[in-house]
Amino acid sequence: MDKKFKSFKLELERIYKSNKIYREKMKRQKITPDDINSWKDIKKLPITTKQDLLKDYPNGWSCVPTSEIKMYHASSGTTGKPLIVGLTENDLQFRKKVMIEDAKEAGITPDDTIQICYGFGMFTGGFSFYEGVRDYGCKIIPTGTMSTEMQLLYMNNLKPTVLITSPSHVMHLYEKAKEENIDVKKLPIRIIRVGSELLTESMRKKIKEAWGENVSVTQDYGMTETLGPGLGMECKFENGMHLNPNYYFELVDPVTKKPTKKKVGELVVTTIYNECFPIIRYATSDLVEISKESCPCGCSSPRITRFLGRSDDMLKVKGVKIFVSQIEDFLFKHPYFTHQYEIVISKEDYKDILTINVEYKDRITPEIKQNIYNYTENVEEEFKSKFGIKSKINIVNNKTIKPSPGKVVHVRDLRKIKV
Ligand SMILES: [Zn+2]
Repeated sequence: MDKKFKSFKLELERIYKSNKIYREKMKRQKITPDDINSWKDIKKLPITTKQDLLKDYPNGWSCVPTSEIKMYHASSGTTGKPLIVGLTENDLQFRKKVMIEDAKEAGITPDDTIQICYGFGMFTGGFSFYEGVRDYGCKIIPTGTMSTEMQLLYMNNLKPTVLITSPSHVMHLYEKAKEENIDVKKLPIRIIRVGSELLTESMRKKIKEAWGENVSVTQDYGMTETLGPGLGMECKFENGMHLNPNYYFELVDPVTKKPTKKKVGELVVTTIYNECFPIIRYATSDLVEISKESCPCGCSSPRITRFLGRSDDMLKVKGVKIFVSQIEDFLFKHPYFTHQYEIVISKEDYKDILTINVEYKDRITPEIKQNIYNYTENVEEEFKSKFGIKSKINIVNNKTIKPSPGKVVHVRDLRKIKV
């Protein structure tokens, strides 16, 4: 029996004893931990869903007495109640270890100065990175979610070498810096580690163009349910996120939830070392492509090479399934747009209408208005041939679309508004 499985089996026995919701699920399938004797048997265990985790809100999923909890984090709760996750002292130590590994994968060294632009609140991002790089020995500038002006002021004065934030925030900082005549390419930033939103390849290209081709732009993947970032960590070779070997991963069919041998599927994660909030076969809703090909960094862990989007980020327009990241990719391939865009879906005469507002890189002067009109038609044509549905593209003036604070919302689905 391998060591990792042995730890998992002990965890399963503990969860069976202490977690009523999961025990009931197992009982319904007429299994006990005694039926699970190798990784192959894991597929006999029931899948856990987000609804399961929220069943006995707020503490129902916790597998330790409340007196052992040292800290709480929570998901944003944009789709309903926030998911509250407790951490014991062991969980905090484990997360710190994971985040040091994450920093090393990114190429960060203890000599780096790190500006962390994630919120230091219930969201896991700020504290997770802080605890890891603090222990690793780095110098930290915890700007959190302060205004862009102040972020730039600290960046310009304290000269961080690493920036940790979301992809759209990186571009927002760049735009603001340009307005203030700060050349970000002259700053000593050598690594930009992004997370919180998906980094598409076209966004990576945009960030490199803005901050410098030699700046390493890599991403991190994680979720509140697994204590935060560090579930997938991209190395400096920028070719996908290595799955963290401290967890057990499977790919399943997103509909049937049955294991699949395909390269693409919904990622299912099982924690092995999480004490307060262990999860077994958690269906993440993330559709990913996995590669087992070797990576020049020498790490043998498989990589998430492509994100097809979250299954709950999938839009269904006129009966066609389409991911926000696919639309983003499409827009960013056009060099004349900025990174700001907004997707609006409405209904007219019982038909779905898809409108995409996207910013032109400069001001639209009266002289070029006709050209913009022609260009719009071309983009609409191209969109239709790529996705098979019609869209209305609105090319708007630079700086017209207001960036939303915190987690970026690119979609307004007006069909969901009840009147
Ligand atoms: Zn690698």
